[in-house]
Amino acid sequence: MNEIRLKAKAKINLGLDVLRKREDGYHEVRMIMQTVNLYDKITLRAARGSGIRLSVNLRYLPENMDNLAYRAAKLLMDEFSAAQGVEIELNKYIPVAAGLAGGSSDAAAVLVGMNKLFGLGLDAQGLMERGVKLGADVPFCVMRGTALAEGIGEKLTPLPPMPQCHILVAKPKIYVSTKFVYGNLKVAEIKKHPDIDGQIQALREGDLKSLAKRMGNVLESVTIPEYPVIQTLKETMLENGALNAMMSGSGPTVFGLFDQEQDAARAYELLKAGNDAKQIYLCRAQDT
Ligand code: ATP
Repeated sequence: MNEIRLKAKAKINLGLDVLRKREDGYHEVRMIMQTVNLYDKITLRAARGSGIRLSVNLRYLPENMDNLAYRAAKLLMDEFSAAQGVEIELNKYIPVAAGLAGGSSDAAAVLVGMNKLFGLGLDAQGLMERGVKLGADVPFCVMRGTALAEGIGEKLTPLPPMPQCHILVAKPKIYVSTKFVYGNLKVAEIKKHPDIDGQIQALREGDLKSLAKRMGNVLESVTIPEYPVIQTLKETMLENGALNAMMSGSGPTVFGLFDQEQDAARAYELLKAGNDAKQIYLCRAQDT
């Protein structure tokens, strides 16, 4: 084998709670993570010589150590003193800096792919342990499916698969920095914490409506006052049949859960015709 093709899938957060700010500056979170079928495409090729060559289809993304895909390859090549080089071709489709863990998922896919391509013999646990060095969301992107994420997001407990539904994902034209969002979050002032335990129960019961009803993301308290378009997108989805709609991660992407395909399709068309969202996708939840 000297080539491997991978799908690096995006995640949404069905619930996102922040419990406290730790002394080291990180926030302790409790989140329900869900993989969706919106993905970047990655090809890895074993190359003659040594080193890493990364090419990306988006001009504004780095092709060096600043790219998480590159960093993931370097981590394994250093540890295993690779005798061969690797070529990474990254085609981005997941919106960038969107709250969908695009970079983390690329890193996870490179770890998984390099392990196979070079026969490194790591199991999922070994990959996740290395992944957390690259970012808190990377272990989940290795695991995929539905999971509770605690700690800084790296402590994972698999959950039953999310009931099937139609997931409309819409990224507005704005840029929101994760650092800004967490930096401006006043944990002590959070009035309403999402019912994460209730969501876990809903997943156990396979109850989509109960799961949707309990959706909540405390980071919206920072982003919505600053960027009202996030609220507008939520309202458009709710007015068009979404069971619920919420911002994913630190945003600014908004997603809605629909039990009726025609409602999701109508909301998709409406957003396409309007000006509030730049990238819009109709997705499904993924177990792997
Ligand atoms: P998260 O949900 O984990 O916060 P995100 O969706 O908000 O992630 P990313 O798309 O991962 O954010 O990108 C955040 C920043 O990381 C970008 O602005 C970009 O410069 C940098 N970056 C590094 N590598 C990548 C990559 N492979 N894909 C996208 N962005 C990358």
